[in-house]
Amino acid sequence: MSRQMDHANLFDDARSRLEDVFQALDVHDDVIERLMQPSLALQVSVSVRMDDGRLRVFPGWRVQYDTTLGPAKGGIRFHPDVDQLEVTTLSFWMAVKCAVVDLPYGGGKGGVKVDPKQLSRLELERLARGYIRAIADVMGPRRDIPAPDVNTNATVMGWMADEYDHLVRGKEPAAITGKPPALGGSLGRVAATGRGALHVLDQWAKREQRKPEDTTLAIQGFGNAAYHFARLAHERGYRIVALSDSGGAIYSEEGLDPEPIMQQKTKNQRLHDLVYCDESVCIAEDAEHLDRDDLLTLDVDVLVLAALEDQIHEDNVDQVKAKALLEIANGPVTSKGEAALAERDIPVLPDVLANTGGVIVSYYEWVQNRTGERWSEETVNERLAERLEAQGRLVLERAEKEGISYRQAAYRQGIERIAHGILQRGNCQ
Ligand code: GLU
Repeated sequence: MSRQMDHANLFDDARSRLEDVFQALDVHDDVIERLMQPSLALQVSVSVRMDDGRLRVFPGWRVQYDTTLGPAKGGIRFHPDVDQLEVTTLSFWMAVKCAVVDLPYGGGKGGVKVDPKQLSRLELERLARGYIRAIADVMGPRRDIPAPDVNTNATVMGWMADEYDHLVRGKEPAAITGKPPALGGSLGRVAATGRGALHVLDQWAKREQRKPEDTTLAIQGFGNAAYHFARLAHERGYRIVALSDSGGAIYSEEGLDPEPIMQQKTKNQRLHDLVYCDESVCIAEDAEHLDRDDLLTLDVDVLVLAALEDQIHEDNVDQVKAKALLEIANGPVTSKGEAALAERDIPVLPDVLANTGGVIVSYYEWVQNRTGERWSEETVNERLAERLEAQGRLVLERAEKEGISYRQAAYRQGIERIAHGILQRGNCQ
């Protein structure tokens, strides 16, 4: 069922959604002109001295889609499929999502075409530092603020922040978010994307008068966002019947506890190879293997997509049996996929709202770094909940009032804010 990713299609798809919003909102031509292409796209070559003495050069990008509402904001992804069109699409989604939850940011994204699993720890550190040296001229706390994304984490951000400090000859912690707390990272940042997605799911479930314990979830992906979402959802009482990683899936009708699964997985195992039950550990008595893509077609209440883009599309959408979808990854449902789901009245809680927890807490980290404050984890989590409660409610209510999808409502909320900013800036830029 998986298909070759085509990033040209991905960007066209993103723009077609944008055109729909332009039509619905009747936006000014200046706004359309500005938002149809990125404002800056930088391609770099990152040279890395490998442990065996060879030199390897990895292509990388940093794209700033729009910076009307503030400095560009968005993560850096290390993945063998990364290219400029993918990074551009992701930077566009960042611009929309920051506006949806009312952050004073534009949208940016970075990526390096590399399989990080093939690198040693020192090679990875050299790559991270080399990437920052390559993009340093276009970043900074008032210009563009990177953060973690697929295959990058707090450790990588720590190396990058340290490299940036060397380059600018001083401490500039607000230049990068998602750092380790010892280097000015915010408490609560690591779990924030998963925590935010759970708030959005809870909000929707409440409106639908659906209780967690009567709601089954299948979760595609077991990276940082997926794991923390799964852990917190399990705590809240949702029943997780399936989980997957890139190698395979596990299924249990009884329900899975993500914590022991993660403990085993960190020993470098794939979900498919885990010990499900023995004297020392038991994930679930009835756990069984599934093929990775079979998870997508399970008969569950909510299918949670927390891996990569382009997972539910016109070729597989007819096989989806879930009653609703939650997007924790960026762009996992294509517009054709979503149109087919809409015909069957299957709602999608969209990425530009559901996965904003990460960037919201990144914003709190930037605020703390710029003011020299340190907030408790409780404060961070409370502020995250308040913002998502307020902005999420606007989106869900607008969808109901205007009879549109949650994604259309979120896009209208975000694009309206960006459009307002573009027009307020005047005509002589
Ligand atoms: N990479 C995350 C995202 O796609 C977080 C970005 C950030 O914190 O700036 O939303």
